[in-house]
Amino acid sequence: MKILSVVSTRPEIIKMAPIIRKAIKLNNVEHVFVTTGQHYDFLLFEKILNDLNLPMPDYNLSVGSGSPGIQIGVGMLLIEKVLDKESPDIVLAQGDTNSVLATALAAVKNGYLFGHVEAGLRSYDMTMPEEINRRLTDHISNILFAPTNVSKDNLLKENIESFRIYVTGNTVVDAVKEHLPIAMKKSSVLEQLDVEPNNYILLTLHRNENTNKDALSKITRILKKICSELNENVVFPIHPRTENLLKVHGLFEKIRKIENLHIIPPLGYLDFLVLMKNAKLVMTDSGGLQEEATVLKVPVIVLRYNTERPEALGKGCVLAGLEEDLILKHVADPPEIAKECPFGDGRASDRIIDVLLNEDLEKHRFKKFDMIKNFKK
Ligand code: UDP
Repeated sequence: MKILSVVSTRPEIIKMAPIIRKAIKLNNVEHVFVTTGQHYDFLLFEKILNDLNLPMPDYNLSVGSGSPGIQIGVGMLLIEKVLDKESPDIVLAQGDTNSVLATALAAVKNGYLFGHVEAGLRSYDMTMPEEINRRLTDHISNILFAPTNVSKDNLLKENIESFRIYVTGNTVVDAVKEHLPIAMKKSSVLEQLDVEPNNYILLTLHRNENTNKDALSKITRILKKICSELNENVVFPIHPRTENLLKVHGLFEKIRKIENLHIIPPLGYLDFLVLMKNAKLVMTDSGGLQEEATVLKVPVIVLRYNTERPEALGKGCVLAGLEEDLILKHVADPPEIAKECPFGDGRASDRIIDVLLNEDLEKHRFKKFDMIKNFKK
């Protein structure tokens, strides 16, 4: 069995890592590892690979960051070439980036089976580039690995055939469970940053809707209140995209001067896990963090007006958008954590590998509609 996995960004590498590591270890599997190179920054890519104990990819397509046309069009062209060379039995990609859509298109249009990891998430907000990618990808996937029953139901509502859908849990839970013990041993991030457990808020921010001038000005104002008036420490590992846009909009110096706000470069996965586990609260617009913090039982204020991960709402996550009053209220009184984790038990990657090795994958190939049988005289 030859499995070809395509990744492009930090969260995709993290969520595919448990599957890739297992595939590499199996004697009856040949694994081909491809990156489109969207995240090429050392801290977002190589450091993360090292932390996850993954090899360097077999192919780096160097598509980089660019317009959707470049990422999807050029990405598809280059992925197609790799597929022709490698002829995999199954192509996998995780999530909702332009690269996932490019991979799915390149695979199915050239007759390769495509499996979508983390299928069926829906924010129902078509202004999000990710929502477009999710919907299109799910509808051309041969096999859909839905993390939860909520995501399976979303797919069924869109008339995706149920035999294609496997509910596996989210591989992010596997990643957290596999790496936390190592992270706790290896990381000295709290000492390095000079912060005390349970005495700081962890902030991340990078979504499109939160990085325009208006949103970044609002966030700067809100952070000033949290840090100065509420006297909270906030640690902010800043995404290069956000740093760049703060500079473009002339806000970087303003935010940098806020007392008790610690802006640091992006962290490796192990350091980041430890920082998240010890935070009193997470404020984020990240999808992955809503899941990881829920696994780690840390409350989350989601800096968005909707989420494709409703499973965690009322179980430690709360939506607050950029509503100052709401955010301040939840900082003072964080949401309550639920006992059970809605995203799975940490065995999602086992289930996915099991499907790939033990199911008859050919039954998932798209078949010609039987026109004669269905022809109505
Ligand atoms: N992460 C990391 N270092 C950081 C910030 C985040 O390793 O400094 C990890 C985090 O644990 C999560 C993923 O990156 O698994 C989230 O990535 P991001 O927020 O960029 O993407 P999203 O989850 O929104 O797709």
